Amino acid sequence: MGTFDLASLRAATNQVPPLVGHNVVAADLALSEGVVRHGSPSVLESLLPLGAEAGTAEAREQGQLANEHHPELTSYDRYGNRLDEVTFHPAWHWLMERAVGHGLAATPWEQQADGDADAHLRRAAGFMAWSHTEPGHGCPISMTYAAVPALRVDEALAKEWTPLLASTTYDPGLRPPAEKQGALCGMGMTEKQGGSDVRANVTSAVAQPDGTYTLHGHKWFTSAPMNDVFLVLAQASDGVTCFVVPRVLPDGTRNQIDVVRLKDKLGNRSNASSELEFDGTVAIRLGDEGRGVRTIIEMVAATRLDCVLGSAGLMRRAVSEASWHVAHRSAFGSLLADKPLMQNVVADLAVESEAATVLALRLASAVDDLALDTPQAEHEAALRRIALPLAKFWVCKRTPALTAEALECLGGNGYVEESLMPLLYREAPLNSVWEGSGNVNALDVLRALGREPEALEAWITEVGLARGADARLDAAIDSTLALLGSLMGDPVSLEVGARRLAGRMAAVLQGSLLVRFSPPEVADVFCASRLGSSYDGTFGALAGGDLRGIVERTTPVL
Ligand SMILES: Cc1cc2nc3c(=O)[nH]c(=O)nc-3n(C[C@H](O)[C@H](O)[C@H](O)COP(=O)(O)OP(=O)(O)OC[C@H]3O[C@@H](n4cnc5c(N)ncnc54)[C@H](O)[C@@H]3O)c2cc1C
Repeated sequence: MGTFDLASLRAATNQVPPLVGHNVVAADLALSEGVVRHGSPSVLESLLPLGAEAGTAEAREQGQLANEHHPELTSYDRYGNRLDEVTFHPAWHWLMERAVGHGLAATPWEQQADGDADAHLRRAAGFMAWSHTEPGHGCPISMTYAAVPALRVDEALAKEWTPLLASTTYDPGLRPPAEKQGALCGMGMTEKQGGSDVRANVTSAVAQPDGTYTLHGHKWFTSAPMNDVFLVLAQASDGVTCFVVPRVLPDGTRNQIDVVRLKDKLGNRSNASSELEFDGTVAIRLGDEGRGVRTIIEMVAATRLDCVLGSAGLMRRAVSEASWHVAHRSAFGSLLADKPLMQNVVADLAVESEAATVLALRLASAVDDLALDTPQAEHEAALRRIALPLAKFWVCKRTPALTAEALECLGGNGYVEESLMPLLYREAPLNSVWEGSGNVNALDVLRALGREPEALEAWITEVGLARGADARLDAAIDSTLALLGSLMGDPVSLEVGARRLAGRMAAVLQGSLLVRFSPPEVADVFCASRLGSSYDGTFGALAGGDLRGIVERTTPVL
């Protein structure tokens, strides 16, 4: 009878070491090459400390803790006074402090005013990389970034709030703005009866003799209710209007904002998303009465870009974990990374992730041109008008499928919370839901096509820059224009086909960017698969290409 060897029984062999200790920025070649392309080597260099911190074991642990210990609402104090405070685990504050400190909130608006030509690109790349820590806290960071262009419709309000929102000091807690070193902003649009159709808002705004308004009504979704200020839509006498609603009034009293409850969400669990009630809530009008949608659309546009950046970051995180795993795990006598079929899967995921990154950075670089009114600004504005809803629709729509497949690369371990893959998987659908769900963005593409001919011209010009380099791309440009032509004649067909068209236009734009900017093996696989007529979206069904080379390019190096 042999001896029972408990030590060897318990040895964890063939298990993969955690992916920590890498520089998230440097390890992501698609990201770092894009930053140099649209910016410069010094922009890339400035992002390396953020990338190093995002890749630490501590960052990974804090991200995990913030999602295990959810925010809690305290409605009343012990004496029965209303409090409406949300408390977070210290890990949330750890993440927020660093995100704000790295300048990922509204900092670029002030940097750009100081002459930094790449402020928005830097912030976009930083936002993508920092999202590897965990994605939930990106919500208040995004909204704070996005509020500034909307606030600019009113010089005085912009002057009052921008320095606080642009601060690199995270200063949580409810105090009057004048006593704070930094502030965060949220948005309240969605109501019970409708989120996409914000013109159906029923919250009313009553003008007061002192020029302020009071709000009466509710919001069905308002994330990050502990933020210092919110841009809120409500019905004034002349229609839907945008308002600035501070959490604490200048005299130190709390503005009446009742947090009814926090949502019990699928994912995004580190972040608090609330239902609010207003009853006499003090609000300051931002922009003209009746122009609320026009005013807040500037904020929505910026958050839509962050949805693209966030989804591209999520994809990259998922693909990093998948490629890392297969590089360290063996089955049937060899590394998974050496199995031809696994190479097919990981290479396909990598190409999707790179296409998302290239498009996201292209859009982010347009923000710098627009902000600085460069000679390209006209083209960039027209391109952004159509490419932003295209990217918001397509990149966010591809993320859940990619995340599920990346999870599977880790086998059963990928289904277990400690791997962090479930966190990514639960988060993955969200960017497609909020800030204009899939249909809403596809319909926005049609709106741009119908009302702003320069938007289609800009798309044609942009994809045309790659013409002649790849016959499959050329054919896809032509067939997409033919599809558009065939749908245009009939409004119902056009609406029915909105997703099909938006998906094609987005993929062609991604293909053109990859052909221009990425290594040939990546562009080749993308054009051969995504731009062909038989592509069914299943990962790992590539017909050929330099799969090993693509996998090596995407696997993080410590
Ligand atoms: C975690 C989370 C946090 C959120 N945080 C905030 C926040 O901070 N502030 C805020 O204001 N909102 C927030 N939202 C709300 C979010 O923006 C809305 O849920 C979203 O805009 C959709 O609105 P809705 O839920 O009312 O759905 P609906 O508008 O009812 O839409 C339902 C479905 O119908 C589709 N649809 C709508 N119109 C059309 C059409 N014309 N044709 C075809 N299809 C259509 C939509 O695409 C969607 O798929 C949050 C949501 C979530 C999930």
